Amino acid sequence: MDQQMKLERESISLLSKALERLEVGFDLPEMNQSFDTNKMEEVILRTAEKMQNNYPYFHPLFAGQMLKPPHPIAKAAYMLAMWINPNNHAMDGSKASSPMEKEVVTDLARMFGWNKHLGHLTSGGTMANLEALWIAGNIHPDKIIVASDQAHYTHERISEVLKLPFEKIASDPQGRLGLEALEEKLKRGNVGTVVCTMGTTGLGAVDPLAEVLELKKKYKFRIHADAAYGGYFRIVDNLESDTILKYKLLEEVDSLVIDPHKQGLQPYGCGCVLFQDPGVAKYYIHDSPYTYFTSDELHLGEISLECSRAGASAVGLWATHQLLPPVPDGQFSKDLKKSRSAAVEFYKKLLSSDDFLPIVAPETDIVAWTLKGSSTSEMSKKAQAFFKKAEENHLYLSLYKYPTSKFDEVDFNIDTDYLVCLRSSLMKPEHDDWLDIIWDRLQKSL
Ligand SMILES: *Cc1c(COP(=O)(O)O)cnc(C)c1O
Repeated sequence: MDQQMKLERESISLLSKALERLEVGFDLPEMNQSFDTNKMEEVILRTAEKMQNNYPYFHPLFAGQMLKPPHPIAKAAYMLAMWINPNNHAMDGSKASSPMEKEVVTDLARMFGWNKHLGHLTSGGTMANLEALWIAGNIHPDKIIVASDQAHYTHERISEVLKLPFEKIASDPQGRLGLEALEEKLKRGNVGTVVCTMGTTGLGAVDPLAEVLELKKKYKFRIHADAAYGGYFRIVDNLESDTILKYKLLEEVDSLVIDPHKQGLQPYGCGCVLFQDPGVAKYYIHDSPYTYFTSDELHLGEISLECSRAGASAVGLWATHQLLPPVPDGQFSKDLKKSRSAAVEFYKKLLSSDDFLPIVAPETDIVAWTLKGSSTSEMSKKAQAFFKKAEENHLYLSLYKYPTSKFDEVDFNIDTDYLVCLRSSLMKPEHDDWLDIIWDRLQKSL
């Protein structure tokens, strides 16, 4: 029997000390507060029991969907902010946390090599992409937005919400934006924005930004980089050299989205949108009869579509950047490199296995693979059964549909449009240390 796992508790004692430090900053008379703690205890324990019905997202044996636990410093700082509950809409609701947000957003812009920017945190990548495409639509009204068929589905839906024409471009077998298909589309004209996904949600593939930048010179369009998942790989050097170059070239895109709540160790509710041209602020301009006259400083609500936003997200990210700055050669980057090496190692194991077959070589830290079989229908069935079997062995994977039209020469029958395969986002640095245990459980699940 395995040792019973323990949840992280350091953040609780840190939080307690931090609350003491926080309260001395307010020179106010004591408040009378009393709560029925017995009743609260009964409720919170029942809540804990409800929460037992979860997959262990925080554990290295959860090697499926994109779920990375927040760092203890992020949890402690986020919770600390809860005692103030700041709202980063206007300055008077977030005197401390709005400046912290401006600081972390600048850190992120610098990480991408930008020396000027306009940007802010959002509730997530969806909202951040919505703002980027909203600006794109303002700059090129009626022009088409294109993205690869492997781009996050949100781009198509956002375009629908914004009533902007949207078209999909076929991807290559590695799941990257197809350049021939893109140029064909560009030749037909009226493309206003090309979305490049810098780490797709399915395969972690990175679109060919160098070539898209070349095409931009000829056909003139905006480039929006959706780096919600993969953006932090910008500060990692154990990728293929052409992938490193693609991340370097993020310096030249018009707008960019990154999700600190994906790879950036933050609790949910933390995305970020960045524009290279601060002048796009003019599209955001509006007035608020309630809030903006209390300070002459920029209110983040003046450059954001969302009104109320959790100041706590900015506080959590700020504290994380103090401890683990998003720079090359820092601890954060070292940990991200471990995820990448876990993916490479895992891929090698799959390649030499008699039972498994990797779909493509991982470009970042996501691996997709299947079980060998004589046809895609048989393999899909096997993968689905294996997914359940692995869960019985406390190894948590995810499933992904790979379009079989992308297969070139293969030694199995293609009798379905999609191959259901297994997928692992190895985004916890611990995955690297746990790879042998993960592999054992995979063998046991056969
Ligand atoms: C996760 C993701 C999104 C959506 O972001 P949310 O934070 O889930 O709203 C968009 N694009 C990509 C590439 C993603 O991985």
